[in-house]
Formats: sequence, structure tokens, C-alpha cells
Amino acid sequence: RVVVGTKVDQNHVNWVTAYNMLTGIRFTVSRTNAKLDRPLTDADFEAKHKFSFDITGNELTPSAKYDFKFKDYAPWVFRHLRAKFKLDPADYLMSLTSKYILSELGSPGKSGSFFYFSRDYKYIIKTIHHAEHKFLRKILKEYYHHVEENPNTLLSQFYGLHRVKIPYGRKIHFVVMNNLFPPHRDIHQTFDLKGSTVGRDYREEDLEKNPRATLKDLNWLRRNMYLEFGPEKKRVFIEQMERDVRLLQRLKIMDYSMLVGIHDLRKGNQENLRDKTLQVFQPGGDSTADDISSLPERGILMRTPSKLETLRKARELRQMIQQEKPIPMGQTGSRMPDQMEENTAKRDFIFYSDDGGFRATHEDNSPGDEIFFLSIIDCLTHYGAVKKLEHLWKGLSHDKKQISPIAPEPYGDRFIRFIESITKSPEEAAREPPPAVPL
Ligand code: ATP
Ligand code: CA
Ligand code: CA
Repeated sequence: RVVVGTKVDQNHVNWVTAYNMLTGIRFTVSRTNAKLDRPLTDADFEAKHKFSFDITGNELTPSAKYDFKFKDYAPWVFRHLRAKFKLDPADYLMSLTSKYILSELGSPGKSGSFFYFSRDYKYIIKTIHHAEHKFLRKILKEYYHHVEENPNTLLSQFYGLHRVKIPYGRKIHFVVMNNLFPPHRDIHQTFDLKGSTVGRDYREEDLEKNPRATLKDLNWLRRNMYLEFGPEKKRVFIEQMERDVRLLQRLKIMDYSMLVGIHDLRKGNQENLRDKTLQVFQPGGDSTADDISSLPERGILMRTPSKLETLRKARELRQMIQQEKPIPMGQTGSRMPDQMEENTAKRDFIFYSDDGGFRATHEDNSPGDEIFFLSIIDCLTHYGAVKKLEHLWKGLSHDKKQISPIAPEPYGDRFIRFIESITKSPEEAAREPPPAVPL
């Protein structure tokens, strides 16, 4: 499952990139948030600001460990988006800016994107291709209005869009988004569903080696699983999903999936490594991370500050933001396991309202045994030349209707149909024949 990653420390190949990303985010986010709020203008959607960082610093940017350039896109739009998603500005900076905060999840997809988690696992940084970056800027206004009209949208929540570049290096674009999966709950199973069957099978034999792998459509069907919602929750979920997919169709987007995480309340949290390491290492001395480097979750094994200390840091940070002071590296403290709680503001959003997710219900609306974490992810692929080519190429060897890169309209229709067909209370499912598994 996605929560396991490699800590990015000074010995990591991507340390400089990660450091620069965080330094840039910290500087630009606090810079924008220091100003008095104001309504958005059309120009805000096009805005981009370039900053040069170097080891000496200048009147605009504070000194940094490395020389790099940083670009901040549509900062006011993202400030408003973060507010709409109810992120606390100081909390956002705290999560993304402490010393060892990131853990890297290599490249889970085929696209070559890298994923980094903030130390508290609330946020994900995903590097994106130039085309995706351009496309996000193009659709930003429509995305913004959609979020405005659909506070409960299932679409990925975007919190920032930036670019870093080191001298002679390539330009790296990245987005900051929500981590769908909560830091404080085990996710027992993960699925990435598209409503397609071609290539949508994780080899069941490999599950033994990698029990937390993200499974796909055919694995789901084979297990005869359902998103177990009674009529009321089903209606809310399907209606929102349809509204979101209609937007994606209108914007000619495809290749997105429904990411599904399942927390089984009967199993609870006993697999939660983090809870165990917490017991062992709290309240340790300074970083013990090197001794225990074999632990996948070592990113969190750091000195644990007291609640008071954390509160003090948060207050200082707020003051710094208000006074527009640059925030020195390491100054923001570390997010600690005892704060590995859900983001409680999320509870105001229906699909995150049951302990960060959406709890299963029976036909009579009584609660079920699972919490589902649901989001439509990877929604920046425009049906452009690349996909058309892929369509032609794959069309030679497979059943045309079953290929995943089909045009946005049929892609979305098929997606809706599939998700709807697998959303049923257990009682409803028991009365009906299971969907056929095409093999
Ligand atoms: P590809 O284009 O090959 O599908 P990608 O690099 O665009 O891959 P995504 O499809 O966005 O990557 O994500 C890959 C996997 O990363 C997902 O299946 C999921 O396991 C995890 N992931 C992505 N976004 C999130 C998120 N917001 N929260 C939690 N996990 C995520
Ligand atoms: Ca994907
Ligand atoms: Ca992708």
C-alpha cells in the first residue's frame, strides 16, 4: 500500500530535488498567505512567478542550501482552493516543510511520475509531465468552479502547482495533492479501477510477495466485491461521481481511475507499523533514523516534541507568515506520530466524514464493517495525439471496446456504468447474480 516508502534523506539521490521542492513551497506559500485575502481575478489563473534561490540569498529570496529556480503557478487560485478544502495554512506548511519530511514512493505507475509523501502522510507530491502541467493550467478555472459548486467532489484535490530546476538540470513540474489514505488507519486493500478489463489485472501470484499491492478491475470482479453502500449513500456517491465524470468528459480527459482503499473495522489497526514504532521510540533522543533504516516507515522515527512545543512552533509559524519572514529550514519542527491523526476539517466533506472515509452501510442504512476511501485520481491526461496513437496501436491486438485509451465520452460512460454496477449493499448483492468476470 502507498503509505510505505523510502525516506528521502541527504544520502538519497533525490534529496536535492526534494529539498528544493520543499524550500520553494515554503517560501511561495508563506509569501502568498502573508497577504490580505482578496477575491480572485481572471489574471490569477494565468499567473506564474519565478524565483531564484542561491546560497547567499538576496532581497527577494532567503538563502538556500543549493542553487535552484522555482516557479509558482496561480498561487492565489491554489490559496483559495486550499481554503475551500479547509486546509489550515500553518498546518499545510508544517506538514510540507520539516527537515526529513518526505518519503518517496518510486514510481508506482507506468508514467514515470514520482510520488513523495509529507512526513505526516497527509499530502502527496506527484511529479507530472510537461503536458499534464500545461493541461492543468488550461483547465484550472473549470476545476476551480467545479470545486466551488461541488464541495464534495471525488476528484483529486490539488493544493499547488510548481516547477523546480537546478542549474543544467531538467525542469520538474509537480502538484501537491491530498493523500486519500489516512495516516491513522490501516488500509487493508487497495484497488485502482477504470471499468476496463484489458491489462487491468494484477497477477494474483505476486500478491504473496507484495500483499499490499494496488489491485485492479479484474481482481475486484474475481473477488466478487462491492462498494457496499445502502440506497441513501449509494445515491449520494453515484450522483457526485457522475457530476465529476461529466466534467472530465467535457474537458476531454481520460485514463483516470477510481482509487479505492478499504479499512476493515473487524481487522482494525493491528497491522499499523506506525503505531508500533511509536511505542518503541517515543520519546526518543535525536534522530535514530540511521540505526533503523531497514524499517520502511523510518521517516517518522524522529525526536518527538511535546504537544506544547508543537503548539508553540505552530504559533511562531503563523506569526512568521503574517510578518512575511522567510522561514528557515528545519524551523517548522517535525510532524510527529502522535499528530498522525486525520485532518479533522475533512469531516465536513461527506466522503471523508467517517473517520476520513465513507463507511459501508446495509440496505436498512445500518453501518457496515468497512470504511471506503474513494477518489478519482490521475485526471490530467488529455485525449491528445499520444492517446490517439496508442489507441491505433493497441487496436491492432485487442478487442476494440475493451481497450482503456478510448475517447473521453465512452471512457466516462463506461467508468460510470462500472462503478455503478459495483456499488451495492450486501443484501442487494445477495439477491442479484454477480457480474461476469471476463477472462
Ligand atoms: P499511470 O499513468 O501509469 O497510471 P501515474 O504515474 O499517473 O500512473 P497515478 O495513476 O496517479 O500514477 O497513481 C498511481 C498509484 O499511486 C495509484 O494507483 C495509487 O495507488 C497511488 N496514488 C495516486 N494518487 C493517490 C492519492 N491521492 N492518494 C493515495 N494514493 C494515491
Ligand atoms: Ca493511473
Ligand atoms: Ca497518469
